[in-house]
Amino acid sequence: MKKEKDIKKETISVVVPCYNEEEALPYYYEAMDKLSKDLKQDLEFVFVNDGSRDKTLEILKSLAKKDKRIKYISFSRNFGKEAAMYAGFSNATGDYVTTMDVDLQDPPELLKEMIRFIKEDGYDSVGVRRVTRKGEPPIRSFFARCFYKLINKMSDIEMVDGARDYRLMTRQMVNALLELKEYNRYSKGLFSFVGFNTKWLEYENVERVAGETKWSFWKLFKYAIEGIVAFSTVPLVLSSIIGILLCVVAFLFILVIIAKTLVFGDPVSGWPSLACIIIFLGGLQLFCIGVMGEYLSKTYLETKKRPIYIVKDTNINK
Ligand code: UDP
Ligand code: MG
Repeated sequence: MKKEKDIKKETISVVVPCYNEEEALPYYYEAMDKLSKDLKQDLEFVFVNDGSRDKTLEILKSLAKKDKRIKYISFSRNFGKEAAMYAGFSNATGDYVTTMDVDLQDPPELLKEMIRFIKEDGYDSVGVRRVTRKGEPPIRSFFARCFYKLINKMSDIEMVDGARDYRLMTRQMVNALLELKEYNRYSKGLFSFVGFNTKWLEYENVERVAGETKWSFWKLFKYAIEGIVAFSTVPLVLSSIIGILLCVVAFLFILVIIAKTLVFGDPVSGWPSLACIIIFLGGLQLFCIGVMGEYLSKTYLETKKRPIYIVKDTNINK
């Protein structure tokens, strides 16, 4: 017979994507190690080295040597944070799973509160959203706000402004996420797509402890387009609607011109305006083909069924 205290403690798996994080990693480990002493649950770390070119992997290996709770997976190249999170979730074995940035922008102390909401209030997931964007370039904040407004209009899936990827989830929700095996992963959307009850905690933006952000403006822009293409087909519908509207306008123009010719004869004029119309329509057509191409290219990548990540080195199952 098992006694009460012999029953295995619950485990929280902490998935940590790391890309060139040699500076932040030691701070992160120290903070988490300290926190783990206050937790009732055991921790399991799944660090994912996303093709770092610095000493991240060496640091992970040496940490894993002294701390048995640490698992690491090292990719053969940089596959991106989405792939890293997927790899982490796939290899996490805990009863609860969380993912957080290694730069301490996701405050580890919030974990205690998150656990409480899941265990006591019955939520399936607790997410974190920052209510301020302090320390971020204003232009970036402006575009981020526009993006969230736009995507929420265009998609049935709710994307919460300021939501970070940091969240604690039950095993059931993680399993649901793992069922979504798409190649083009846009986690903010995937988290909403699987549903379940999510509690949102709010906090003030925290700046990186060390190192620098991996997101350039251009990378963020591409990521935003990816989000729209992954969770909305509105751009396709819009292209068709614009096409139909322009046909109607063209038809009206034809009627006007015929009427004018019949009444006033046919003086040859209006070349500059004609050139403008041709350029405008040409541009619009290319834009709509581009929109279609964006969806087609995603479909193309999905049909290839390439692996989401490739592992070069790991201490799992050794
Ligand atoms: N990251 C990653 N692969 C990438 C880019 C980032 O694994 O290609 C990790 C990075 O190490 C960090 C997290 O994703 O733990 C968030 O990155 P960052 O702090 O640069 O993003 P920000 O907080 O500025 O949005
Ligand atoms: Mg960060």
